[in-house]
Amino acid sequence: GRGRCEYFAPALGERSRRVVSVEHELRQALQRGELSLDWQPWVRVDTWELLSAEALVRWQHPTLGSIPPAEFIPVAEKCGLIGEIGAWVLQRACQEAQALFGNLMISVNVSPAQMMRTGLLDDVRRALQVSGLAAERLEIEITEGIFLDDTPTAMSNLHQLKSLGVQIALDDFGTGYSSLAYLRRFPFDTLKIDRAFVRELLTHHDARAIVRTIVELARMLGMRTVAEGVEEPAQLEVLRRAGCSSVQGYLLARPAPAEQMRRLMDSWDPN
Ligand code: C2E
Ligand code: CA
Ligand code: CA
Ligand code: CA
Repeated sequence: GRGRCEYFAPALGERSRRVVSVEHELRQALQRGELSLDWQPWVRVDTWELLSAEALVRWQHPTLGSIPPAEFIPVAEKCGLIGEIGAWVLQRACQEAQALFGNLMISVNVSPAQMMRTGLLDDVRRALQVSGLAAERLEIEITEGIFLDDTPTAMSNLHQLKSLGVQIALDDFGTGYSSLAYLRRFPFDTLKIDRAFVRELLTHHDARAIVRTIVELARMLGMRTVAEGVEEPAQLEVLRRAGCSSVQGYLLARPAPAEQMRRLMDSWDPN
């Protein structure tokens, strides 16, 4: 309340139970250089070729340790810090990719609150310009957390990003409430099938049926599909048979810093 944004971080555990001003800590985090990026690749199911890598933000606090994005991104959104953090992530991701990844595609997560900001397009343009990364190498991942129809700024941002040459992925597909309506409103390039379905692929018939149907729908609408959170070879096999075009998950690679991602690219053998 009163413009202050305080919350209890579950990561702190029982021992250090206290309220931290995450707003204050996050501002410091940017200034003190505590944020960094990990990268996690996606791989083509049929050829095993590396297709792209997703940037995932990391926060290493000097005393609190590592705080996961699922905890601090929502706080950044509430505190109005998401703009600054998002701009930093875009800039940093484009720079690392341009410096280290050759021609590999990259993707960057943009939260609903960012998508509704008027400054987003300028942030993307600047990141591309400063890094020298070609717009065609960048994909923006958005979640289904917003009604695009109700937010003209988000819709306009999406269309303007497309006209820059940037690709758009719909993240966590299948978990939102307006999935099918979304697909008619906007020409997404990629559908990312949420980990919740992949996790139940081997044990639940309905999860398998849903995944098959999403893949088929995406194919007919000219989108590629990426299944998230693939951890077991048997899941991979089911996804391959379902016709899913690419996969991402611990089975292939865990998220890791850019230098490590580069080494993975160098040693990657599609056969
Ligand atoms: P997401 O975009 O759905 O990212 C996938 C999450 O699943 C990542 O968690 C990743 O580390 C994790 N993951 C990948 N493969 C596997 C697997 O095989 N098994 C399991 N159990 N997990 C796997 P992470 O890095 O903690 O990120 C969580 C969420 O935070 C992301 O979900 C995304 O929504 C958000 N996020 C991360 N980085 C950013 C960012 O730079 N900006 C914004 N706005 N959001 C971000
Ligand atoms: Ca994502
Ligand atoms: Ca996801
Ligand atoms: Ca997710």
